[in-house]
Amino acid sequence: MRSRRLLFTLLMMAGVACAPPERSPTGAAADKAAAAPATPADIHARALVVDSHDDTTQRLFYDKAFDLGARHPDGNIDIPRMREGGLDALFFSIWVPSDVTGPIAVKRALQLIDSVHEAVRKHPNDFVLATTASDVRRAASEKKIAALMGMEGGHMIDDDLGTLRDYARLGVRYLTLTHFKNNNWADSSTDTPAHNGLTDFGKDVVRELNRLGVMVDISHVADKTFADVLEITTVPVIASHSSCRAIARHPRNMTDEMMQALAKNGGVIMINYEVSFLSEEHRAAGEKSGGVVAALGQMSKKCGGDEACSTLELARVTREAMAKGTLPAVSWEKIVEHIDHAAKVAGVDHVGLGSDFDGATMPIGMEDASQLPKLTAALTAKGYSAVDVEKILGGNILRVMEQVEQGAARVPDPSKAPR
Ligand SMILES: [Zn+2]
Repeated sequence: MRSRRLLFTLLMMAGVACAPPERSPTGAAADKAAAAPATPADIHARALVVDSHDDTTQRLFYDKAFDLGARHPDGNIDIPRMREGGLDALFFSIWVPSDVTGPIAVKRALQLIDSVHEAVRKHPNDFVLATTASDVRRAASEKKIAALMGMEGGHMIDDDLGTLRDYARLGVRYLTLTHFKNNNWADSSTDTPAHNGLTDFGKDVVRELNRLGVMVDISHVADKTFADVLEITTVPVIASHSSCRAIARHPRNMTDEMMQALAKNGGVIMINYEVSFLSEEHRAAGEKSGGVVAALGQMSKKCGGDEACSTLELARVTREAMAKGTLPAVSWEKIVEHIDHAAKVAGVDHVGLGSDFDGATMPIGMEDASQLPKLTAALTAKGYSAVDVEKILGGNILRVMEQVEQGAARVPDPSKAPR
């Protein structure tokens, strides 16, 4: 009796010392489980899947009836499809077109930030607002989706570091320095160079982002702007939604040399799923009618400035053209090709996922977030280890977030410098 009680006590202690797994297989089943390698589905379920660029914010803002909690037949993102695809964290983009500037751009940016906060408030069982890497990990442990915010276009700070600090206070955790057009302090990859990269104020913006612990995003910027950023930043930077120029020669994509420089900086390129950034054949065919930048501008006019309408409509029309064969069809496997290329050129520690869901035309087979497990299966089939796949799915961007957070703590506050 005594020994049985001792055994019970020992078992209880062992139970306390190491938290039991949800299901603890015994005997032969345990041996089999230990011997069986993790399946792609296991790897995907265990990984923290983080998407660094998503434009659903436009739907939240323009369509007040849009419910993130319901499954939709259009668009790429809602809670049911995120759950199905195992998407654990998402950067909602705060985006105002480049030609909307000044106080109007600031007001719109604040409205978009409010739309994200309100979506989180309305879905407390599914979403939690996150501003740090540890917030993202905590959200996943609570089975919630981490909602983060990134601001796409430096014009929204209206040339004012105070406004930038206000955005940071509201939870914005990266700033894409430009969008399609240059702003007053940085050149864009899709505009005629005006500043030879960054102006002195543009350099101050990068320093202030470093100090605030907000990531610098070099997607959209001109190659020279990217080079200037690397000269100044004291922490790793990100390309929140860019692909590889060696595969599709769009100026929005990064060259191999740029990716290698980004890797040296410790940063990460988050692969964009937009068809004209994935496929050279599709890009070249689309270029004949002005390319994706012009097409988006035309669609925006047609939609009367409703940006949710313009991106959804352009995606619908482009996918129809791919189905009819008037534009070359692009398959989801192209995303894997870009991830693989970036991993080979920059290293597996420097690549991640930046879909551009609800802001771009998705390739066939990647219609929405529910399709994400395909990427894990394809990478595993290519020979990527579980550890490497987990880095690509989210580990790398979380590492950069942590480095940027730690870097901020090291930067002295310039306002406290002795005079
Ligand atoms: Zn973009």
